[in-house]
Amino acid sequence: MTLAHRLDGIPPTIFTTMSALAVRTGAVNLGQGFPDVDGPVSVLNAAQEAISAGANQYAPGIGIPALRQAVARHQQRHYGLDLDPDTQVLVTTGCTEGIAAALLGLVDPGDEVVVLEPYYDSYVAMIQMAGGVRRPVTLRAPYFRLDADELRAAVTPRTRFVLLNSPHNPTGTVLTRAELQAVADVAIEHDLVVITDEVYEHLTFSDHEHVPISTLPGMFERTLSLSSAGKSYSVTGWKIGWATGPPELVAAVLAAKQWLTFTSGAPLQPAIASALDDEPDWPRALARDLESRRDLLCDGLAALGLDVRRPEGTYFALTDITSLGWRDGMEFCLALPERAGVVAIPTQPFHDSGAGDQLVRWAFCKEADVIEEALKRLAGADLSGSPARPSPRAAPATRGSSPQPRAGSAPG
Ligand code: GLN
Repeated sequence: MTLAHRLDGIPPTIFTTMSALAVRTGAVNLGQGFPDVDGPVSVLNAAQEAISAGANQYAPGIGIPALRQAVARHQQRHYGLDLDPDTQVLVTTGCTEGIAAALLGLVDPGDEVVVLEPYYDSYVAMIQMAGGVRRPVTLRAPYFRLDADELRAAVTPRTRFVLLNSPHNPTGTVLTRAELQAVADVAIEHDLVVITDEVYEHLTFSDHEHVPISTLPGMFERTLSLSSAGKSYSVTGWKIGWATGPPELVAAVLAAKQWLTFTSGAPLQPAIASALDDEPDWPRALARDLESRRDLLCDGLAALGLDVRRPEGTYFALTDITSLGWRDGMEFCLALPERAGVVAIPTQPFHDSGAGDQLVRWAFCKEADVIEEALKRLAGADLSGSPARPSPRAAPATRGSSPQPRAGSAPG
């Protein structure tokens, strides 16, 4: 066995597996979350111009000044935060590198990290690679709200971090100010650092408003905020993100980032600076457009007999497949390309507990005719499951309000 112990129990990411399945079977891919229409033309042109103008060698590791200044202006414009672009902003290679560098730069072996479950799969891999121990707090069907008592119960004397994500992938929950205040209260009481992934910050619907936890009283100094341009500007392949917060937290991320990628894509940075400055309303327009596609997908899935959670933000909708006679989302998603020519994402990989065994995630960041084609295929397919039999992970014994970390997540 050649794999290092730090990767014990970490499978290939489900997004790679399911997108490969979609390509292999020719299925409509409502799995991996990437839009099928690119971002603003002015921004795409800006990147091409930057290449022509010679922005092709290493950018500074911390990011080019123009982008750091544009990120600082973005935080001021949207959230009233006043950041020093030289010490409180760091450019990362997407938010995924921000997460990796934050955890490697801040977490010591044995430190416990409280994390919302379902969690984005990179959190698990990176907490483990940093030697940390995850302590999940479950957002449960059907409302997927944060339970402040469960949050408190997850904190132990070894807890040093809360890893937050709002708007939340895959549940679509946008944490309310009251829920965020509960996190803030716990963080302040136990002197925890909050690392928060806010990549869907602009993709919220109706009157659901994204509140950065760093704006709550007493929180800026203990919060590292992560975001990226990929989701807001429909350029997920560009991998330009940023970390913002107090200088010592940002410096810790840079200390690790310099050994990961050293620096992020040079010609893409001025293009994203122009996106933030010159196309400030583009992400909200995208959100309004996404809202109608959300409704198209959710109404269509509900008409098929699925129990749908209409998300408050992100571009994903969760369904409970129990009503079709299935208990296991992984089995369902592996059968779906052949049965219907559609790919979706099972949520088991985002859980320690069995709370997500019957939940399946569908992406609606696709053009309306793609969603319609997927719904047509689903409507014409036999989606009925075998008579319900619990999967091993769904057994009551593995459920619980304070799930234990998987063996592989313990340090050493
Ligand atoms: N964030 C996107 C999703 O949740 C893509 C993830 C990925 O491919 N790593 O689908």
